[in-house]
Amino acid sequence: MEYRQLGRTDLKVSAICLGTMTWGEQNTEAEAHAQLDYALAQGINFIDAAEMYPVPPKPETQGRTEAYIGSWLAARGRRDDVIIATKIAGPGNGLAHIRNGRTRFVEPTIREALEGSLKRLRTDYVDLYQLHWPDRRTNFFGQLGYTPAEEKYPPHIEETLTALAKLVEEGKIRYIGLSNETPWGVMRFLAAAEQLGLPRVVSIQNPYNLLNRTFEVGLAEISHREQVGLLAYSPLAFGMLSGKYLGGARPAGSRITLYSRFTRYLKEEGQRAIAEYVALAREHGLSPAQMALAYVTSRPFVTSNIIGATSMTQLEENIASLSLTLSEEVLAGIEAIHTRQPNPCP
Ligand code: NAP
Repeated sequence: MEYRQLGRTDLKVSAICLGTMTWGEQNTEAEAHAQLDYALAQGINFIDAAEMYPVPPKPETQGRTEAYIGSWLAARGRRDDVIIATKIAGPGNGLAHIRNGRTRFVEPTIREALEGSLKRLRTDYVDLYQLHWPDRRTNFFGQLGYTPAEEKYPPHIEETLTALAKLVEEGKIRYIGLSNETPWGVMRFLAAAEQLGLPRVVSIQNPYNLLNRTFEVGLAEISHREQVGLLAYSPLAFGMLSGKYLGGARPAGSRITLYSRFTRYLKEEGQRAIAEYVALAREHGLSPAQMALAYVTSRPFVTSNIIGATSMTQLEENIASLSLTLSEEVLAGIEAIHTRQPNPCP
């Protein structure tokens, strides 16, 4: 396993992070525990969760993912062997079941969210506490353009950071991170930390895969210059980059087959690009999933690649992608496809 520095901290996280958002929905507690056992045996020390998980979010399942991690920690007693990241949900449609819709990032809400996560995770502290998405009006979750809009509250980054700082001082959070953030947001968090002597964000968890490299515009430079590395999510574009959905196939039990709401990677241009990436991998005798994962892991601004798996076979294949080094020829092939079809599924 390869380990990389998390921001300017002294923590070293595995280059592959274990994503968990299927646990409690597509995966049972026993399967979650088996994934954790296997991942740790392979050297993974980094796990990513969220109070909102599993997905799709529902009142009756909310918190199950963290609870499965908590029961694993209680059974194995390996708290010191894992770096646990989780997230507080921001405002959003269909999330009224989370704190009755109280999701602005202010002290009482953050405290309540964190206490809930700590209880489910059965631990006293979270290593990395992330804001799941901005609580201001901006463009994320695939929206490329920014449109100024009426806001009920102005952005209040200093207030959020001050609240997080208290929880860091209390020892309940070790480090803080952002997710689904924009360049403006990351820079404002960094500036506020500097001006007010508050904790600095150490990471940004955004989508990054062969169909969506928008992180490279604006954010990659920030990652490099400020040491706020990318924790890349959806590296397989919801499994689509494995090629298993090509030609309209809908394999039984898989995410896109099960949930019609997941349309982010279904655009026609995306399907054409996927066919090209899959053909490129096969031409070079590579597994398309491993090629897609190795590409993400090897980007210089990536601190860790957050993989997801619903079976042990997938998990094994995905972790094994670490030993794949992409040749210059494959990288050139990827660039050629990207140039013809840049970011078809942002
Ligand atoms: P992904 O790599 O794009 O998709 C993973 C899914 O693809 C698996 O659940 C599996 O689903 C399928 N798959 C995985 N490996 C495969 C393989 N080798 N061959 C064929 N199919 C394969 O990642 P993701 O699940 O979207 O995201 C990973 C993690 O990132 C999440 O668990 C979560 O921790 C984090 N995340 C964060 C955010 C955020 O807003 N911050 C958003 C999304 C994800 P099926 O078996 O159902 O096909």
